[in-house]
Amino acid sequence: MHPEYARELMIQRLQRQGIKNPLVLAAMQQVPRHLFIDEAFGSHAYSDYAMPIGQGQTISQPYIVAYMTELLLQQGKRDKVLEIGTGCGYQTAILAQLFKQVYSIERIGSLSNKAESRLAQLGIENACCRYGDGYAGWVENAPYPAILVTAAPEDIPLALLDQLAIGGFLIIPVGKEKSSQQLLKIVRTRSHYEQHILEEVSFVPLREGVG
Ligand code: SAH
Repeated sequence: MHPEYARELMIQRLQRQGIKNPLVLAAMQQVPRHLFIDEAFGSHAYSDYAMPIGQGQTISQPYIVAYMTELLLQQGKRDKVLEIGTGCGYQTAILAQLFKQVYSIERIGSLSNKAESRLAQLGIENACCRYGDGYAGWVENAPYPAILVTAAPEDIPLALLDQLAIGGFLIIPVGKEKSSQQLLKIVRTRSHYEQHILEEVSFVPLREGVG
């Protein structure tokens, strides 16, 4: 199947699954997902499941990417976003269509380098990739109105709560590996953090230190 056609079918499926934000749908339409995945997968790149990207890591299924992006946009600011877990860089590329500046951290050097060169090849210039431990966040550019974590810790990293702007949203899966994990939306108010439990999810673990 031609990639453009497979992508169009993916967009129709996302709409049936409840993704409504036209900006998110346009970004998913824009980014060639098959270029982030091993060529052997062909048009399966657009199917609705997670796929291996090397080093035991996976790219999230299109629905989860779209859903988390939609949640992030609900806080209303689009100047910058922090992503923890660059992986193959697909989610990074989606965020780069929607936010002025994307900061993304990956703890596996080879994945970080590959993602960085892939983003450059696609002409995406507003995403900065850093090889490091996302547990510490990226303090130099804080505070962030939007933070997205694409791997699951057992507890929310404190640095990420600290680096969230007032009114900002942190979208993060939390829970043990291979057991039940929940996707959380944390909203920082002037006086506290509100926690909203969204849905059951399955992510690779967020590991401390660099790989
Ligand atoms: N958004 C990615 C998903 C990759 S899977 C994509 O679209 O491909 C999650 C990624 O988080 C993995 O690449 C893993 O190496 C990375 N990761 C795990 N713990 C991390 C940490 N402490 N800091 C930064 N990245 C981490």
